[in-house]
Parts: sequence; structure tokens; C-alpha cells
Amino acid sequence: MEIRKNESFVVTIEDMSDDGAGIGKLDGYIWFIKDTVTGDVVEAKSMKMKKSYGYARLVKVLRPSEDRVEPVCPVARQCGGCQLQAMSYEAQLRFKENKVYNNLLRIGGFDPLTKDQFLPILGMEQPWRYRNKAQFPFGTDRDGNTVTGFYAGRTHSIIPIKDCLLGVEDNEKVLRTIKEFMNRHHIRSYDEQRHQGLVRHVLIRKGFATGELMVCLVINGERLGHEEDLVERLKDIRGMTSISCSINREKTNVIMGDQVIHLYGPGYITDFIGPIKYQISPLSFYQVNPVQTEKLYETALEFAGLTGNETVWDLYCGIGTISLFLARKAKQVFGVEVIPQAIDDARRNGELNGLTNVTFFTGKAEEVLPREYEEHQIRADVIVVDPPRKGCDERCLDTIVKMGPKRVVYVSCDSATLARDLRYLCDRGYELKKVRCCDMFGWSTHCEVCVKLRRK
Ligand code: SAH
Repeated sequence: MEIRKNESFVVTIEDMSDDGAGIGKLDGYIWFIKDTVTGDVVEAKSMKMKKSYGYARLVKVLRPSEDRVEPVCPVARQCGGCQLQAMSYEAQLRFKENKVYNNLLRIGGFDPLTKDQFLPILGMEQPWRYRNKAQFPFGTDRDGNTVTGFYAGRTHSIIPIKDCLLGVEDNEKVLRTIKEFMNRHHIRSYDEQRHQGLVRHVLIRKGFATGELMVCLVINGERLGHEEDLVERLKDIRGMTSISCSINREKTNVIMGDQVIHLYGPGYITDFIGPIKYQISPLSFYQVNPVQTEKLYETALEFAGLTGNETVWDLYCGIGTISLFLARKAKQVFGVEVIPQAIDDARRNGELNGLTNVTFFTGKAEEVLPREYEEHQIRADVIVVDPPRKGCDERCLDTIVKMGPKRVVYVSCDSATLARDLRYLCDRGYELKKVRCCDMFGWSTHCEVCVKLRRK
């Protein structure tokens, strides 16, 4: 049966791709259909076709899968930020575990893992409103009204929406207040095409442990104007601690500008992950799901097996979140991170927590570690890595092997590169002891994993 472009057909969804699209087969031809769930029987319409596979759009669910739920968000399909909104939270957790498990076997070439090795995923107790950070773009609708919302999947047109269910409830009030302020003073939203107008984005952050709120308006100009009125309006919102503007006059997709003008408060908010305190300024990196981050780092700490006598390296340490977590239980921790501003934050947070046994290096892990090893004969009892999606550089892995720490703890946001790197280490003297997934981003396909390796 030949299907042409824009033709409707009926198909059963048998599986799901790693990016969350349903997969159905007709006469050996594979269809990827977003917004469908394994077990659904759907009517779909073909959109784009290649030789052996094609993409189709969901038209109608004819028989829903047991795992299907009614998407709670009214713009889930347009927005595209939540690829798994049609899947129950329980099913999402299984989807994530399967994805990680399959990558370990398929890419890593590991034998089937026992229950003792592959521990149950750490899911969220409350899978909504878990994000402590939101960035809303500003624009203008056809009638000239200020709108805020989200970019429609892969485009730059704004879907006006007052609330996102992943973010905190305070966002809505902040957005409303800023729009009122802009209307009152006839302040225009930024227009990307013409590179005109003032207000580009608003960044809102909340300290979940402290309730402190931060608002930062990104503007295409040196000044916002009427700042005192903005502060007056915003400061009555409960928890408001820091109000600022970030100047970004570039024609760019990068949201924040480098320069920040503080209008109200100390310039940062404070939050805690577990016992560790952080000061977060508008430009600081900070984990967006602090509740699950704590669970992930507790797992890393457990896998590190510290007794207080260990020398630990934390590679790709960011603002030192893991380093500081481990420092409480280790003799000495060394962190390595390539972004200098992140290292500034890491050092400041170390001092803030009175942790004096942590030292941070700015540079690439694959350069700092070999250099310190060859020139200063540094050693390690435990090495923790938490690299970006592309995984670790081979020079970094080689040095780890040479240094031969008793344990390696690998924290990963991409199980494909994780599996590749684990195979590399396990071919060179390490064995896979524990794997634990942790869900930091419910309703999306992303999954964090923490792995423990032991030197044989
Ligand atoms: N562990 C940190 C964040 C890890 S995200 C935390 O929990 O907060 C990965 C980090 O690796 C980013 O901060 C990124 O800037 C950094 N990075 C990317 N490539 C790097 C490299 N080659 N060497 C060191 N750090 C790197």
C-alpha cells in the first residue's frame, strides 16, 4: 500500500523514538508521529517522506493506549517543549529507564544488568511546577498589543500563554505586572525582524527552599525608563528579592546580555540544594529542578562512597554544585570547569558554605587533568564527571585510567555518550557496579543518569 503526501492512514504505534515520537509501521515502512504513545491506534496524515521512513501528523486517536492521558496543557502540541504530555507520568518513567537501559546494552555492549545493578528510577513526587527558572519572550500581536508566552516549536512566533504548568505560579503575576507597566508607559516589545523595540525577554527565578524571587528584564537599549515604577509594582509580589535589567542589543538568539543593571535588592537570590547554600545572580547557571537535583547528587555522593579521607576530582563542575556536596564528606575536592564565571560562582559558594577543602581550576577537563597529573603527580581516590551531552574527551578518559581511582562516578544527561564512555573505561580496568536514572525534566524525553564504576 503506497501512501502519498498529505494522505491519511491508520496505524498502530508500536514503539517510541528517543526524542518521543511514536513509531508505527505499514508494510515495512516506518512512520514517526509526534504526540502519539506506544499502544495507540491513530489516524495520521503523511507530511514528509524519505525512502524507508516518513513523518506524519496525528489527526485523531482512534483507540488510546493504556499509557495515554489527556494533555493538561492546552498548547502542548504547538509548544513542543513537552514531548511526552500525552503519556502518563508512570509511563514516562518507564520510557526513560528503557531508553537508558537499551543504550547501555546496544551502544555500551554491556550484558543484561541485574536489579542490583540497575536501580529503579528516581521519579518526582510532584511532576508539575518543578522548574525554578523561566524565560518568556515578549512580542506584539497583530493589533499591536504586548504579548508574552512561548515560541511555537522550532519557530520564533510567540504563542501567547499566561501560565506554563512546569513553572511556578508566581510567573503569571510577574508577567501580568510587567505588561501593565509596559502599557502604562508605552514601552514596546522587541521586534526581531526589524531589530527595534525594547523589551526582549523576562527571566524569572525562584529559590524553592527560600521563596525568594528574581526578575530580570532583557532589553534592547541602555535603559528601560520608569524603573522606579517597575520596582514599585513588582516589589509587592511575595518573595520579590531581586529586580534587574540585562542589556542585550545584539541581533542574536542568545537571551541574556552580559551587562546587568540592578534596580532592587542585593543582585542575587539565595537558595539551597540539600544543606548547601547558593547565591544566584541573573547570569549564574543553576539547576532548574532543585528537588530532583538533590536526589541525583545524593546518589552521586552515595556512589562515591566517601569516608572523609578521600581526594576527589569533580570534572565539568559548573558552579561547583557536586564539588560542594562531596566536600562535606571528603578530605579534599578539586573541581574543573571551562567557563570562568562559573568558577567565580563556585569559589564564592565554597566560601559562603565555609568549605575550605575545595579548590577550583578553570580550563578544559581534558587539559587540566593530564597537566596536573603529569606536572604535579596529583592523585584521586574518586573521580566524578558530569560532562555536557557530547560526553568526555578521550584524553580525559585516558588520564582517569592512568590515575586509577578506586571509583568513578559518571553523571550524564545523554545515555548514548554515557554508554560509549563507560565501555571505554570498562575495557581498561573498570567494572559497572550501579546505574540509577533520575527524572529532572518530567513531560520531556530528557533523563539524567548516575553510574558507579569500580576499579577491578
Ligand atoms: N556539575 C555541574 C554542571 C555540569 S553541566 C552542576 O551540577 O551544576 C556540564 C558543564 O561542563 C558545564 O558547566 C560546561 O560549561 C562544562 N564543560 C563543557 N566542556 C567542558 C570541558 N571540556 N572541560 C570542562 N568543563 C566543560
